[in-house]
Amino acid sequence: MSKIIDVITEYYRIPLPEIMEDAKHGLHTHFEVPIVKITTDDGRTGVGYTYTGGFGGESIAKLIDKELKAVLINQDPSCVESLWDKMNWGIHYVARGGLASFAIAACDIALWDLRAKKADEPLYKLLGGHSNKVKCYGGAIDLNFPLDKLLKNNQKYLDMGLKAVKIKLGQKTLAEDIERIKAVRELIGPDVTFMVDANMSWSVEKAIKAAKLMNPYDILFLEEPTIPEDYEGYARIAEEGHIAVAGGENLRTPIEFMHMINYGHVDFPQPDASNVGGITGWLKVAALAQTHNLSVSTHGMQELHVSLLAAQPNAGYLEMHSFPIDQYTTRPLVIDKTDGMAVAPEEPGIGVTFDWEKLAPYKTSF
Ligand SMILES: [Mg+2]
Repeated sequence: MSKIIDVITEYYRIPLPEIMEDAKHGLHTHFEVPIVKITTDDGRTGVGYTYTGGFGGESIAKLIDKELKAVLINQDPSCVESLWDKMNWGIHYVARGGLASFAIAACDIALWDLRAKKADEPLYKLLGGHSNKVKCYGGAIDLNFPLDKLLKNNQKYLDMGLKAVKIKLGQKTLAEDIERIKAVRELIGPDVTFMVDANMSWSVEKAIKAAKLMNPYDILFLEEPTIPEDYEGYARIAEEGHIAVAGGENLRTPIEFMHMINYGHVDFPQPDASNVGGITGWLKVAALAQTHNLSVSTHGMQELHVSLLAAQPNAGYLEMHSFPIDQYTTRPLVIDKTDGMAVAPEEPGIGVTFDWEKLAPYKTSF
């Protein structure tokens, strides 16, 4: 048996290449990447991480360093699911969901890195290896882009070979949103898959109205039309708006996904391993989706999710998110131009190796 002898936490605050806007979080100038390095007494190291849209990253790093480290030290790193449970119950009373789900995620991903490296397997194979590829869409944070820039950006996705794109909604008027949907559909043609994301900006009534107005444009799904806790609202939007709904980036525990499926409605669950308790939490949601005959999709951290999704028989869509974490790794996301699908890495481990030199200027004390 090997033992965890150290848990080192680092915090990076990285400026975005340009200022980006969505409907509820406003302007994004930075993203944050707390990174965890877990070392064992037999000389192995696993690296895990989480990310934020610019707020809370320091607190997450502190939570790992002050609380979760103590849970992990001297434990057997092979017992990943048991450690996930210990971390959850360790801080459950003060932090169920929220920051805890991010902090646990970073540690859990490092443990999976250790597990996959020990097995000498790439993550997608360790998790079942259904495929090494998954459908992928370009998802920009583009609410503040003028129309010509919006179109240029979507053309860029098509030029990359992608067969699916998503835009943000939540302009001052619904008419402006629909005008942008119409223009993008005209640009991409009838064969490219098209999704939209309202980032929780609407009431249920407004979302139903919007859904009806966008029906002529063959929208695959309307993402986060309203606040994530309004399970009944999601059901009403889907039924009365005659549209498929997506969501999950703002759900923090697998049980919240169960509530959304059982008491509300979601056609495309989108768990994000960085905020639903890591790979262990993500897999619980993927299995839940499968038992309900639903596909599973993702939000953010495409460089990791490509392996998680490719492994699944019920894989939906990988979001190629605008926070370019993968640009700070040795293998930015790979798209197969022949079919527009994202390709999982073959190296043993989680397949995310940070470029430490590139990250170095953004390392920040916490
Ligand atoms: Mg979204």
